[in-house]
Amino acid sequence: MTAAAQSEMDAHWMRQALSAARDAQHRDEVPIGTCIVVGDKVLAVAGNRTRTDNDPTAHAEMVALRVAAKEVGNYRLSDAIVYSTIEPCVMCAGALIQARVRRLVYGAQDERAGAVESRFRVCDTDFLNHRIEVSAGVLEEECREIMQEFFRARRQDQRSEVGGQRSEVGDQISE
Ligand SMILES: [Zn+2]
Repeated sequence: MTAAAQSEMDAHWMRQALSAARDAQHRDEVPIGTCIVVGDKVLAVAGNRTRTDNDPTAHAEMVALRVAAKEVGNYRLSDAIVYSTIEPCVMCAGALIQARVRRLVYGAQDERAGAVESRFRVCDTDFLNHRIEVSAGVLEEECREIMQEFFRARRQDQRSEVGGQRSEVGDQISE
């Protein structure tokens, strides 16, 4: 595949992840989405579901990995490419390694909690003899913009609340 064709494919799949992120936003979730593909087949598309499911592990990447692994009937996804709108956290980066995914493509960095390049470099560890190929910055602006939009709205809500509680979400992921 040429580099141009590759980046076109990456943008195409990232748009699916973005659409899952927007769905999450409509559920009042932090708008992060993930799409997992093998070849040109989609295995899973999922958005963040932590609030919806009352599940601290229900980040978009985790939800999508579970669906994808069930779909192929194998906990190893060694041919899979994972598209995520935001740089994965420690938990999700760890899960990507456990699943032995081939490649991770993400949109915007998470300077505060990102575990691929920003805070930790979980995907660079080679203790499992597995190294994930990483590409960053695909549709970066769009991926970052929906996060910023979400947190801006959050902050406004908080300000208008009298004695409002601090949102846990604002601390979870940076802008
Ligand atoms: Zn995560």
